[in-house]
Amino acid sequence: MRLVTFSAGDQPRVGAVVGDRVVDLHAASRGDVPADMLELIRAGSAAWEQARRVAAGAAGQGLPLAQVRLHAPILRPPRNVFALGWNYLDHLQESMRARGETRDLPQRPVFFSKVADCVIGPGEPIAIDPRVSQQIDWEVELAVVVGRPGKNIARANAMEHVFGYSVANDVSARDVQQRWHGGQWLKGKSLDTFCPLGPWIVTPDEVPNVQALRITSRINGQTMQDSNTRFMIFDLPTIIAELSLGLTLQAGDVILTGTPEGVGYARTPPIFLTAGDVAEMEVESIGVLRNPVVERE
Ligand code: MG
Repeated sequence: MRLVTFSAGDQPRVGAVVGDRVVDLHAASRGDVPADMLELIRAGSAAWEQARRVAAGAAGQGLPLAQVRLHAPILRPPRNVFALGWNYLDHLQESMRARGETRDLPQRPVFFSKVADCVIGPGEPIAIDPRVSQQIDWEVELAVVVGRPGKNIARANAMEHVFGYSVANDVSARDVQQRWHGGQWLKGKSLDTFCPLGPWIVTPDEVPNVQALRITSRINGQTMQDSNTRFMIFDLPTIIAELSLGLTLQAGDVILTGTPEGVGYARTPPIFLTAGDVAEMEVESIGVLRNPVVERE
């Protein structure tokens, strides 16, 4: 199933993409399937199965995908978006080269977070302000949406806690991130609009091997990153097991799983986003997330 949060001149609600159309699951189920994505995720597996049955019976119904507005699949995650740093070896190496530093391979996942309010949807502008940052960078990432809550989740059971997958752009103000506030990640990666997410959530049954997906980014059509999720240092079961150790994962939590080589600041010469650019992030079998860059106060 491909689940979207969409609107057609009215309130955003949950839809299933069936062919090239979007089915309003709440309306098609006569109100049984929640109208809000977070409510649907929290409702649990019986509601997810019902959503699947409604979608399967709705071929040819609904609105053309091209005629609706897609929002971030989860309009506002329930709390900060979890994220990983240094989860692809080649990105760790390019970062250390760019900084003139060295760092050993992490022995356990490196976690940080992005403020939930910075999530935006497909097509929505990444707003930049040169007075705040002149080093705005992109990072394509596979996003995992938690379904079943859990704490101290065993690696062997970890994938049972996945609701689905999406694509994210971990937009990063490198100067804010690296120079101005003690080398933290939180603020440099949490400026308003800095977490494009979407275009939809794809359920795991449609992704046979999530650790073998091509992951690419393009700026103005030019390929910048081109790697594969098989090159993650820590795979999804390890990430979920480690993150949930002593920390309860909640339904609707979003986890960004790191970015591969090819970000802007590590290039020679560096490349940063400017107004008028178009950032396209793609994960094979999941989708393409496209956002324009605009200058805004
Ligand atoms: Mg990142």
